[in-house]
Amino acid sequence: MKPKRVTVLGATGSIGENTLDLIGRNPQDYDVVALTAHKNVKRLAELAIKHKAKLAVAADADAYKDLSLALAGTGIEVAAGQKALLEAASRPADWVMAAIVGVAGLKPTLSAIRQGTAVALANKECLVSGGSIFMTEVARHGTTLLPVDSEHSAALQAMTGTELERIESLCLTASGGPFRTWSIEQMASAGPEQALKHPNWTMGAKVTIDSASLMNKGLELIEAHHLFALPPEKLDILVHPQSIVHCLVQMSDGAVLAQLSCPDMRTPIAYSLAWPERMHVPNERLDLAKVSALTFEAPDFERFPALRVAKEVLIAGGSAGTVLNAANEVAVAAFLENRLGFLGIAGLVESTLASCVDLTGQQTASAEDVLEIDEEARIRARNWLPRFA
Ligand code: NAD
Ligand code: MG
Repeated sequence: MKPKRVTVLGATGSIGENTLDLIGRNPQDYDVVALTAHKNVKRLAELAIKHKAKLAVAADADAYKDLSLALAGTGIEVAAGQKALLEAASRPADWVMAAIVGVAGLKPTLSAIRQGTAVALANKECLVSGGSIFMTEVARHGTTLLPVDSEHSAALQAMTGTELERIESLCLTASGGPFRTWSIEQMASAGPEQALKHPNWTMGAKVTIDSASLMNKGLELIEAHHLFALPPEKLDILVHPQSIVHCLVQMSDGAVLAQLSCPDMRTPIAYSLAWPERMHVPNERLDLAKVSALTFEAPDFERFPALRVAKEVLIAGGSAGTVLNAANEVAVAAFLENRLGFLGIAGLVESTLASCVDLTGQQTASAEDVLEIDEEARIRARNWLPRFA
């Protein structure tokens, strides 16, 4: 078999590193076309050398000199800046991992989609912000879109072989995050250090904060809506603190199909990498006797208002997702810099949405349209910051 040509966008992140861990275990099976990062030049260069990448790209144009120095004499092509990032994403590859964080990943991921091969999608913000145009491009180019988010990978695994009309509902599970049992008063004084302590998963900072506010699960509802063409009323959430059952799919004959595994992102990444086959991953095996109990509870929309707001956005449709995502990115960045309290995250997002009714109703036809609304929503979100600081 010919090696699979692979590219990893966001190679230095948590998903990118896990992806390269799998690739590095069977190097003979892969040709690494391109690896990209924002500005972590040192790690990008290490990874490019280790995995014999043809091209290494830093999204930050200022990183060009350092990256060139770090890769001098290796024969690895070096580039930097936005144009170079889009070019890397469109270099012929059989499989592209889209693991940039935030809406910054929208255009590069669309470039990868336009190759018409396979895209493994970790970057959920792309779908939340530009889901309609995104899925239109996927259909237009006949691209195989493989979800990497553990719940959506689980959904795909459980749904495969069943017609869409036989699926009554899809229930995403949520760990509940570090504040699952905390009161609103306790959460009011929570800082980044506490919010970054996720009970089950080790992930990048943005998605870890989103998991603490439960905004992550709201973003995932919108992600599922676009990925699987399911209406809001068929999508549900259940809090499951053990993070063993990742998704439950209710079929029309009463059967419920689920996918279970230990919480390790290499399992869903491997599913997307080997699809439609499976590969060997030497990670922990599930021992249900040891886990002993799997528990489930309904989400609390009062203590976790971000989830309620995201559900409203899912129902509203239009460009509400673009505004939600932009405001949340502003809020999470401010929280991580101690410029916003934890409860301010949902507050800021809700206020921004309320002040963007002129934007949320707009239809978009291109990534440029989406990013224009994103930019305006960010300006308005920043204007709200002092009120919630
Ligand atoms: P991370 O912060 O660890 O890594 C992000 C990557 O994107 C890095 O390589 C970084 O250099 C790059 N990047 C950041 N800003 C960029 C920019 N402006 N332009 C170009 N590149 C940029 O994030 P992560 O945890 O790996 O998450 C990546 C995506 O996957 C997110 O959308 C997240 O929601 C999703 N996801 C992550 C996990 C997880 O376990 N980490 C699970 C499910 C979904
Ligand atoms: Mg998830």
